[in-house]
Amino acid sequence: VLRMEAVRKSFGASPVLRDVDLEVAPHTVTVLIGASGSGKSTLLRCANLLEEVDDGAIWLEGEEITDPRADADAVRRRIGVVFQAYNLFPHLTVLQNITLAPRRVHGLSRPRAEAEARELLERLGLGEKADEYPDRLSGGQQQRAAIVRALAVRPRLLLLDEITAALDPELVGEVLGLVREVKEGGMTMVIATHEMAFAREVADQVCFLDAGVVLERGTPEEVFGAPRQERTRRFLRRIV
Ligand code: ATP
Ligand code: MG
Repeated sequence: VLRMEAVRKSFGASPVLRDVDLEVAPHTVTVLIGASGSGKSTLLRCANLLEEVDDGAIWLEGEEITDPRADADAVRRRIGVVFQAYNLFPHLTVLQNITLAPRRVHGLSRPRAEAEARELLERLGLGEKADEYPDRLSGGQQQRAAIVRALAVRPRLLLLDEITAALDPELVGEVLGLVREVKEGGMTMVIATHEMAFAREVADQVCFLDAGVVLERGTPEEVFGAPRQERTRRFLRRIV
């Protein structure tokens, strides 16, 4: 679904991604781990064309999206994104938040968009929150609603960046539970997280980023169970 080849990105003089290769197969979950500042968010932002790469190339479903002729809006329509916080528009209800893109960007009629949104909310355990405003929801419910909103446009790929980082610990579980369900549904995802137990459980592929380099990659068993690099071992020792 997504492929990156030798992607480089610098901010000013400081290189943030250095020759990153990444291959994300359909219906798989790739988890990015690594210290703060290692480049996880930048990698996700490049994949969504929120940042322009300096060098290298990125393909989405076989189409090179780093080609200057690629239509960035069309690319973003195929990718769902959820960040750490501030995902929902506060002046819109949950239902209005979710139906905004399907109606405006994808041209669905209001009744159809609302019917689909209510069904998705129901299925993902938020049915009774459809007509509430975000400030009436817990942080965990807000993040779940943000995930539902990202799914409402039926993306080909979902990018999740530290979606539990701003949450109280007791709310983290419900959000991760929803991600688990989304995975069961076959969605292809790339997830940046500091939740190592979750990463180990949900990932098909784990990439350890160190100073903008994918230093180690493999199955969770390989990377968590038998890391080959000393730096990976040190990182895992420090945080688990
Ligand atoms: P964290 O775990 O804290 O979220 P990260 O792995 O997501 O970290 P990035 O946010 O990708 O790290 O940042 C990587 C590096 O790029 C950092 O040194 C950061 O300061 C720098 N950086 C990121 N965005 C910008 C920007 N817009 N302008 C300048 N420097 C930036
Ligand atoms: Mg980040």
